[in-house]
Amino acid sequence: MDECIFCQIASGKMESFKVYEDDDSFAFLDIHPAAPGHTLVVPKKHTADIFDIDEISLRRLAGSLRHIASKIKNAIGSDIMIMQNNGRAAGQIVDHIHFHVIPRTEGDGIGLMRGMAELTKEQMEEIQNKIKEASSDD
Ligand SMILES: [Zn+2]
Repeated sequence: MDECIFCQIASGKMESFKVYEDDDSFAFLDIHPAAPGHTLVVPKKHTADIFDIDEISLRRLAGSLRHIASKIKNAIGSDIMIMQNNGRAAGQIVDHIHFHVIPRTEGDGIGLMRGMAELTKEQMEEIQNKIKEASSDD
């Protein structure tokens, strides 16, 4: 879908702070992060939500999700919260399935709100590189 912003990001037509990519999956920093390192993980193939994606694609995405969560955990030294919203009332804004991977630390005060950490481009690039270069436990 040409008009889908996440399709444009995953295909490289639109710039993003990419932290990971494989044959099926793409991961990039959320531009309205709840915390530094807040990352979105999407399948490259357009699917709207958890109800639209086929099981094989979801299994592949889950493997990438765990890999990326591990990289972020090691890069930030934090615990990890993973969120996935389906539909407007649930907080889904872009109709291309995505998982939020959010670093959490004790007392960080983060609820389920985004945009709590406003970062400069330099801070975004710094955290982008930290995650890209981090090891993974899987
Ligand atoms: Zn899409």
